Amino acid sequence: MSGQMMRTPLRVIDLLRHANRNHPRGEIVSRRAEGDIHRYTYADAYKRVCQLARALDRLGIAQDARVGTLAWNGYRHVELYFASAGLGAVCHTLNPRLLPQQIAWIGQHAADEILFFDASFVTLVEGIRDQLTGVRHVVLLGQCDSAVGADAAARIPDLLFYEDLISGELADELDWPIFDENQACGLCYTSGTTGDPKGVCYSNRSTVLHAYASALPDSLGLSARDVVMPVVPMFHVNAWGLPYIMPMVGGKLVLPGPALDGKSLYELCEAEQVTMAAGVPTIWLGLLDHLRTHGLSFSSLNRTVIGGSAASEAMIREFEEVHHVRVLHAWGMTETSPVGAVNQFKPVHDTLDRDARYRLQTRQGRELFGVEMRIEAETGEPIARDGKTHGRLPVKGPWVVDTYVGDVAAARQDGWFDTGDVATIDAEGYMSVVDRSKDVIKSGGEWISSIELENAAMGHPAIQEAAVIGRPHPKWVERPLMLCVLRPGHGLSSGELLAWLGERVARWWLPDAVEFVDELPHGATGKLLKARLRERYAAYRFNDQKHSTEDCS
Ligand code: ADP
Repeated sequence: MSGQMMRTPLRVIDLLRHANRNHPRGEIVSRRAEGDIHRYTYADAYKRVCQLARALDRLGIAQDARVGTLAWNGYRHVELYFASAGLGAVCHTLNPRLLPQQIAWIGQHAADEILFFDASFVTLVEGIRDQLTGVRHVVLLGQCDSAVGADAAARIPDLLFYEDLISGELADELDWPIFDENQACGLCYTSGTTGDPKGVCYSNRSTVLHAYASALPDSLGLSARDVVMPVVPMFHVNAWGLPYIMPMVGGKLVLPGPALDGKSLYELCEAEQVTMAAGVPTIWLGLLDHLRTHGLSFSSLNRTVIGGSAASEAMIREFEEVHHVRVLHAWGMTETSPVGAVNQFKPVHDTLDRDARYRLQTRQGRELFGVEMRIEAETGEPIARDGKTHGRLPVKGPWVVDTYVGDVAAARQDGWFDTGDVATIDAEGYMSVVDRSKDVIKSGGEWISSIELENAAMGHPAIQEAAVIGRPHPKWVERPLMLCVLRPGHGLSSGELLAWLGERVARWWLPDAVEFVDELPHGATGKLLKARLRERYAAYRFNDQKHSTEDCS
């Protein structure tokens, strides 16, 4: 017997329709590439989305068509998310930080039919236009009647202009097509750290369910009272779903555009009275540095989501103790839409002392309802949730990838998706990433977590950032090499750092060498590029064996 409830499909466009009906005065504030601030309401946004959908329809963008974007976090990008999804088309966010040939490859692989781009990317688009053979229209996110517009028009043949495209269209409510909730709505390619990038195609259903689950009090805990600034880009995994979640709850969305330096982020955060921000640790390093140098703090920010890479205890402490900002450590990946786990305390943790709470916060969090995680031995057997035994971390759920674009299998035959992470899960459900399986250091048959070593080093007041990679060792197979960037104006010797680490990690984990470098390489999504470091240090041999060998038992 079937249930007898309406079979209303879950559609992305309904998130904005909901905001238009219930939060018409809710705001979207954007810093534009031009540097000025643009401000409008969900009601204004919805009108423009209706205009844009009509314009797309006029250009022949039909159901399934891939709508490419090369854009920062901004209101026009939000409009593209919703108008494409509303038509049953697919908003394909391209990452402008990739190399031009990678962007062209991804645009072709995805079969993009139209490409919208911000004024910052005129040269990029000019360079790859000829390679995008399926793209019928290129559209500058601006207007013809501007200096940038005139310059771009002279360089890119048949260029269209967003504002001119939509201005002639009716802004009345559109009769949005009804389609199956599994219809695609968004597309994002992994950054290709392992082989060619792979396309992950989100559905209306997965996106709406992800938004519901992420907004819950014990997830990101968002409401109409919140002012949220996603620093994480809309071109990488949909800014962690925040442009969908905020219209659903009716809160204000603050979009920082291309200005991601500490000063600009701080000023926007203060001016708009942001209550929650979200981004990768690298971004927060820059912001915290700015606050430290200028003796500043936040007047409205009360929590920040950190994910994409591990949040160090030092960063969590600085946010909480100096700025009274609660850190919500979160875990996810392109393949999981992305939020899979968020770290929030339970009542049983109220009695923990401060240090124990910080330690707990370095864990990546509990699975959101809908996502299931487990820890597996090499044999594939599930391992008990004891918080100690580590193993592979497969996941499954309605917003986890099944198949990559091009019918390439993503999930395993048994229905689980292997994340490539090595982790533990404790009896209360808190998952802790030990390492990416390719980054873990295998020393004498035991594993050393590069993440834990990095976090311990970053607790030292003189260390800005640390990376640990495994290097071959004749006796122990691999031993850790630590690369550190010092905070400006600080000095530290490797001996001093090793002494500091010696009080915080097992003796046999101590790096065999510490090298101080000016900077560490980061990928297009702000993550440390360990593969590049391994290449760079391929010929590295440990000279000073005193911190390894005999202690490694
Ligand atoms: P890509 O950079 O290839 O697009 P993702 O952005 O999807 O990949 O990154 C996913 C990976 O990032 C996860 O598998 C995990 O290794 C890492 N990651 C994400 N969040 C965290 C976190 N909070 N702590 C540690 N690692 C994390």
